[in-house]
Amino acid sequence: MGHEERAHALLSASNAHRWLVCTPSARLEEQIPDTGSDAAREGTLAHELAELKLRNYFFTVDFGKTKLARAIGKLKKEGLWDDEMMGYTDTYLDYVKATALGFKNIPTARIEARVDFGAWVPEGFGTADCILIGGGILHVIDFKYGKGVAVSAEGNPQMALYALGAYEAFKILYPVETIRMSIVQPRIGDGVSEWECSLKELLAFGEYVKEKAALAIKGEGEFVPDEKACRFCRAKGRCRARSEEKARLAFSPDYGKKPPLISNEEVGEYLRQGIGVAKWVSDLQEIALKECLAGKEIPGWKAVEGRGSREWKDPDAAFKALAEGGIDEALLWERRPVTPPALEKILGKKEFKELAAGCVIQKPGKPALVQESDSRPAVTNKVTAKEAFKETEGIKNE
Ligand code: SF4
Repeated sequence: MGHEERAHALLSASNAHRWLVCTPSARLEEQIPDTGSDAAREGTLAHELAELKLRNYFFTVDFGKTKLARAIGKLKKEGLWDDEMMGYTDTYLDYVKATALGFKNIPTARIEARVDFGAWVPEGFGTADCILIGGGILHVIDFKYGKGVAVSAEGNPQMALYALGAYEAFKILYPVETIRMSIVQPRIGDGVSEWECSLKELLAFGEYVKEKAALAIKGEGEFVPDEKACRFCRAKGRCRARSEEKARLAFSPDYGKKPPLISNEEVGEYLRQGIGVAKWVSDLQEIALKECLAGKEIPGWKAVEGRGSREWKDPDAAFKALAEGGIDEALLWERRPVTPPALEKILGKKEFKELAAGCVIQKPGKPALVQESDSRPAVTNKVTAKEAFKETEGIKNE
């Protein structure tokens, strides 16, 4: 299956850690477009490669070496391809092989298996990377290519939902007593997290999920801001519950009858809370900048061209002029050409201006979000009628 083609349910297994905690989040996220990211696309590519390798291992007759090599050759042409993917997917393959060989008898293997957990979650389905089943054991294995946050298999709701779906699909054919879950994340630490529970425990989790999912599908229940739940929530920048929680933390200290000086414990606690507050503020800035650049109004704010930087137009010519002006060559060279601001610092504004001002070009800076009182003129990405007309004129005159 092309991973790009993987369908996503509203209450997806991969977002279960969010909608189980903050039940209205799934419906709220629906209102925010999913723009994807390079990291997600890179992960998709690595998953496609991992799938090919497992297919070749488990179904060699249908998908032999030649087909594997051809399919990998195709993936290598993708822009986000990186040779290190071969090694990381080998780690995953080795883990799956070792797990399969650990079964008493050869287990039944399902790769990229669509699992339906609609009995617990309305319209719930997903795609499990690898399922091994046999000897009373149902083992769900998930490959994760992220390197930012280590994901634990312990009580992992995504894995548990896949296990519920797999159990539902195979229960008539295979008796199951034990559920095993593994996450192989080869770019992080030791790269493997494993967990095990009984079928009874899994089914009890299913009952808990049912209640939460019934609320989540309707967008009901309480919004619950939580660092883990909010981290990748598409609504995080505009979510009122998160905004109000962070604003309360940032702007409403509880003075009470406490001592006037805060303790080290409180410093630590405020700093911890401050991380979430800073992240929230940075999410707000990102949204505001985008809106301003799109020509929309965020009262009190505007987008302006950021501070630019100066560079030598022609370092050799500039240094020749400086040398002719009596500047010692030793002042001019470090391991790389000295930047205009650095040399201005050495020479002083006056001498720099006399000798080098004509050698410097001013490069525009990145757009930045500032308060309205800033003296710089507002900029937007929108092409004005005047600019468009100018361009048309340019074409005509060519
Ligand atoms: S940002 Fe946090 S609180 Fe708001 S909907 Fe998302 S998960 Fe819930």
